Amino acid sequence: MADSRPTPAASPTARAGIALGALGRSLGGPAFEAITAPPIARAGAALATHAARLWGRVLGGEERREGELHVITGLPQWAFGRGGTTVGATYLTRASDSPDVLEHEDVHRQQWERYGLWFIPMYFAAGAEGTKNRFEIEAGLEKGGYLPKDGSARRERRRSTGSEAVRAGERR
Ligand SMILES: [Zn+2]
Repeated sequence: MADSRPTPAASPTARAGIALGALGRSLGGPAFEAITAPPIARAGAALATHAARLWGRVLGGEERREGELHVITGLPQWAFGRGGTTVGATYLTRASDSPDVLEHEDVHRQQWERYGLWFIPMYFAAGAEGTKNRFEIEAGLEKGGYLPKDGSARRERRRSTGSEAVRAGERR
């Protein structure tokens, strides 16, 4: 019997256990769709947004709103990854807040909204190299500072200006 779907008679707890087991086997299956269901993903993203805003405020950053994004500038470099980090709908940075960068970070905000807290392992699983990470590609490599912009000189390419979606301090 290859079909591992829970039977309708299974208790909610059993269903949850089976769903988690299935998740381990297949990140693309129905179990994954269940845990990234919009209400759950939104709750996770909201939690991340609040935690990051608190973090930014504690560190004395200056907060402003850009569309749906909470932008917190003036933070110390160690407080976020690369040029800046989007956590939920909060973007943390020292001073990397050009319109292009904010457009890029807003795509990460939408990724958080789509996947909730699962976005964290998903982002790291997608690869540490920004230019090959599918979430960075979706957000736009040029706007995120991973690639030189069209027509601009190579001197503008600086790894440190790349921004990313989740904290990368652990990697350093
Ligand atoms: Zn990015």
